[in-house]
Amino acid sequence: MTNATHLECSLTGERYAAGQVHNLSRAGKPLLVRYDLEAARRTLTREALAAREPGMWKWRELLPNEGGPVSLGEIETPIVPLTRTGGANLLVKDEGRLPTGSFKARGLAMAVTMAREFGIERIAMPTNGNAGAALAAYGARAGIDTIVICPSETPEINVTETAAYGAHVYVADGQIDECGALVGKGAVQGLWFDCSTLKEPYRLEGKKVMGFELAEQLGWELPDAIFYPTGGGTGLIGMWKAFDELEAIGLIGSKRPRMYAVQAEGCAPIVRAFENGEEFAERWEGAATVATGIRVPKAVGDFLILRAVRESGGGAIAVSEQAILQAVEDTARDDGLLFCPEGGAVLAAWRLARDQGLVGSDETVLLFNCANGNKYPLADRSKRLELAEAEPEALARGT
Ligand SMILES: *Cc1c(COP(=O)(O)O)cnc(C)c1O
Repeated sequence: MTNATHLECSLTGERYAAGQVHNLSRAGKPLLVRYDLEAARRTLTREALAAREPGMWKWRELLPNEGGPVSLGEIETPIVPLTRTGGANLLVKDEGRLPTGSFKARGLAMAVTMAREFGIERIAMPTNGNAGAALAAYGARAGIDTIVICPSETPEINVTETAAYGAHVYVADGQIDECGALVGKGAVQGLWFDCSTLKEPYRLEGKKVMGFELAEQLGWELPDAIFYPTGGGTGLIGMWKAFDELEAIGLIGSKRPRMYAVQAEGCAPIVRAFENGEEFAERWEGAATVATGIRVPKAVGDFLILRAVRESGGGAIAVSEQAILQAVEDTARDDGLLFCPEGGAVLAAWRLARDQGLVGSDETVLLFNCANGNKYPLADRSKRLELAEAEPEALARGT
């Protein structure tokens, strides 16, 4: 049983029936799932939650699936203080611990669960890496065929990992939105279901659970600011929706964090639109950054990201490649957490915001690291050793 009552166009408010396969609205915008919040309120209490098995599926009153989930063991990800890097108030929600090593697992677990309920047999998506891997893994779990098309700069581990799950993987000579156009073409021809970011309504419902989870973990008191690595923006939009749903069912009050959308200087369409006061973001030409998860030149949910950021009193911040790489090195060395480059971007943005006085040292700030740093290439800092010549004392000094 689900409390989902209908879906709604995020731009026009036009209603669509629940229980049917959907992609974008007639206006070409994302659809948002709406629930019977009165019904949810009756059973989704703090006490009930505390007694349930931990994980995203315990929020079932605010999830769209009728039946059981397609699951690979989605944990509640820990919130860890970055004590040396920023003090006790600087926290990171480490999403790299989910199945397939990234938070894309949340969205794809939900989307594939729904696809299975609808009897969908083949799913395709464009990806910069992590989403494709998660789609392929959950597809394998559900017995659904998957086709994944990635730009050539997609990290090799993602390409090989996705193929290992049995997906058909294609590495293409274009950006993610251009790969997406091909996926859209095949969907129109009836060859597969298009599972692109925000072009189907349920990945957002999986990702929004990050908002539920952090609220509960922080004792139902939201942080003062959230820094989020923004590509398609699913997580940011999803959390913003989650906070409204939590307030509507009485689990939190009206306090909201300032939401900061973080992008790389080499691909910052949302930052540019934010600074220019625009409602929609123009495509970013020549997108390039090591933080491939946020290399999204054109996001279909651009206006939803910008709306959430503005309503929250937050902002949009772009960071340099050098600052990204430096941040990854710093948190690993100082706090023992290996961030992905997108997580490095988030820390770099927090540093800028702190230096500009946008966040106070007494404020609780939550950063998002959305993938396991082990999935990305790192500099080799090891030294060669000939065992016959080795002096333990020299090794102890690191020389
Ligand atoms: C996909 C991805 C992002 C961007 O997430 P969105 O919610 O689509 O904006 C950030 N970091 C990593 C590691 C990702 O894989």
